[in-house]
Amino acid sequence: MKKFSKVVIPTAMALSMALSTPAFADSQSKPNGPYIENEQNISLSSYMSNEQLTNTLKKLEASSKGKMKLEIAGYSNHTLDGYKTEVDKGDPLYVVKFGDADPNKKRILITTQIHGNEQIGTEAAIDIIQKLSSGGKEVSDILDKVSIWVMPRINPEGSDNQYQGTWYPTRYTHQTWLPENIQLPAGTLAPWYYNADGSERAQNNNGRVVYGIPGYDQNRDYNPNLDFRIENEDKSEVASFLNSRTTNNSNYGGFFVTAEARTVSGVFKEFNPDVYVDVHHRGFNTLSDEDNRSVPVQVAAVVADPYTDPFTGKQYEVDEDVLKLGKQVNALSSLALQRGFSHYGAVQKYPDVNLPGTALGAFALNDTAIMLIEIKGQSQTLGQKQAGMLKETVKVPLYEVFKGLADGSINEVDPEIYNAIPESTNRIEDPTTRDNE
Ligand SMILES: [Zn+2]
Repeated sequence: MKKFSKVVIPTAMALSMALSTPAFADSQSKPNGPYIENEQNISLSSYMSNEQLTNTLKKLEASSKGKMKLEIAGYSNHTLDGYKTEVDKGDPLYVVKFGDADPNKKRILITTQIHGNEQIGTEAAIDIIQKLSSGGKEVSDILDKVSIWVMPRINPEGSDNQYQGTWYPTRYTHQTWLPENIQLPAGTLAPWYYNADGSERAQNNNGRVVYGIPGYDQNRDYNPNLDFRIENEDKSEVASFLNSRTTNNSNYGGFFVTAEARTVSGVFKEFNPDVYVDVHHRGFNTLSDEDNRSVPVQVAAVVADPYTDPFTGKQYEVDEDVLKLGKQVNALSSLALQRGFSHYGAVQKYPDVNLPGTALGAFALNDTAIMLIEIKGQSQTLGQKQAGMLKETVKVPLYEVFKGLADGSINEVDPEIYNAIPESTNRIEDPTTRDNE
């Protein structure tokens, strides 16, 4: 419990606190760019569509000489009462497997694009898959000891979202809250992370667009009780939980209403990984008052407090050993970015959060060491600018973690190195409006 002694700030509050922090005028007015300028068209053309992703994965599997297995773990937008017909299936959710769920090997699971507008993790994942499938001695030394499973783009609906005939990736999944379809009373309130009008901030953060397709923030739909399913619960208990703001909020696990969260959790249970990595995008920071380098990534080994399931009373917490390994994974990643890659080195720690409904939070509370990687910028703010460099900030650390797991050197990394990673600070509210104030 020691690790949770500090005050935990919910994300929204942490953000608003950071936004209201006064007097970083210097770093605000002279951030280390580049940034997209207002009204400049954002190009996403170098990023893969769902179709391109599928084709790429199939090609890689074919050329891997059996090293890589490509499977469909499930489909997006699966209605809660199951597929009615084949056409009700959304897009496939892939799992790329190097090695099986062998308990005698180290096991690492990587997911990307749980938020559809966070592309670079997927682009990095494809490079990693390509490297692992191409073989060579270094790769075989890793794969002899480590099984690596990758789920690239676990929110294909948000990723391929269209707005006014243009590709417009969004954070949310596509799905409508229909309580009566799951035997809940009509009018039962949706989970708090439901986006009823289908809206998203506009390009360059300049206002909002309403694209009109409802959906969920998949990364609040997980639950430390990986088997929680509304259809198996007492419906009146679930309804009163949802209808109260004191319980329908981010302090509690999600409701597994999305097919995507159910699918990913199924893969997690099958694989039982030692390490789980989820790759995201976020905003902009400079490293410190003294060092105005733009922060390419933030990382975190902890995103959830000990948790008591309100339905079963079961308690969940992160074991000391698991926490230690998580810190070692994050520390090794941070070191990898410093060593020989000095322009990548401005790493920060993600702000303290307690989010048991995130994939990382729920899985950490099920005895898996975690690393959150948060790349700077979103498709709405950065487009594909700096994508090559930002991709490296995911690939370089992950490859180092694979090697550390394979030869056991990860166990020699001092967890204090993680504790010493600079805290998140000097947030740049919106670089595109930095001259407007
Ligand atoms: Zn995200």
